[in-house]
Amino acid sequence: MFDRRKFLKLAAALAAAFGTKGLSQPARAALNDIDPRTVPKLLYLQGLSCTGCSISLLQADSPSPLSMITDYSQLVFHTDLSATSGAQAMELINSFIDGQAGDYVLAIEGAIPAGMPEACIIDHKPFADYLERAARTMSGAVAIGSCACDGGIPAAEGNPTGAVGLAEFYRNRNINQPVINIRGCPVHPDWVWHTITHLVLVGNPNLVNGSPRVFFERRLHELCPRYYDFQEEIFAEKLGDRGCLFRLGCLGPITFADCPTRWWNGGRTWCVDTNAPCIGCASPKFARQKDLPFYRLSEGKGRNS
Ligand code: SF4
Ligand code: SF4
Repeated sequence: MFDRRKFLKLAAALAAAFGTKGLSQPARAALNDIDPRTVPKLLYLQGLSCTGCSISLLQADSPSPLSMITDYSQLVFHTDLSATSGAQAMELINSFIDGQAGDYVLAIEGAIPAGMPEACIIDHKPFADYLERAARTMSGAVAIGSCACDGGIPAAEGNPTGAVGLAEFYRNRNINQPVINIRGCPVHPDWVWHTITHLVLVGNPNLVNGSPRVFFERRLHELCPRYYDFQEEIFAEKLGDRGCLFRLGCLGPITFADCPTRWWNGGRTWCVDTNAPCIGCASPKFARQKDLPFYRLSEGKGRNS
């Protein structure tokens, strides 16, 4: 149960996050309880994205999405969640991007169409323009999901937009801006919220290949409960069979993520547990090459061309 004080604090924080107006005076006062020195502002923008990562983030258990935007961060703007829109939204975004250096963390979902800037426009300007300006003022950058990290599905072979991830975008422009990569399609809510919590309470997390080591250090295959089947060569021949899914295209052997120990959907299930091969959604190469099993029509029927 919420007491009055908690309710007001929550209402104030949600109003701050969603950009609603008309707060009561007590609610405004409660907003002051959020210590701006310890709780960073989070500016969340989207490029070439399906919004799947945002949907996934809202399924978080611990901390809850509510707690993340009240106790652990101030979500100042989110493309989908904020009620603020139009000129008011642009004023808010530009006030951070062109504002005081070190005032906010930039979270990006979706790829950047580096070869076709007009494929992603915000207020008549290319998305890329905002990213270049933000590099001068943000205190840190977090790429959320495989598209923001490496281009993902928008960077699939044949796509004319020249989609890239945030780190490559900055590298190609000789902008020295470190990026924390949190891969996945969609991303696991724990991977994102726990990373942001770590950023707030401790500082930069320990990284491996640009990603938080605690989630992405181990090869998925070695953590998989069917690893014994793999070693004993007990292979599933069709979807639904028990046994290792390697012959059905499982990419666990080349994917680094802790899905087999973390599980998904509040710990209820994960891909292999539902007899679905891992499609390597947390791999930097995810969806980018035609010869990966993701593109296979079915075993024995050839591949997409
Ligand atoms: S199901 Fe996939 S991840 Fe699990 S042991 Fe087989 S190949 Fe490895
Ligand atoms: S098991 Fe593989 S496909 Fe499934 S969520 Fe994990 S990395 Fe992605």
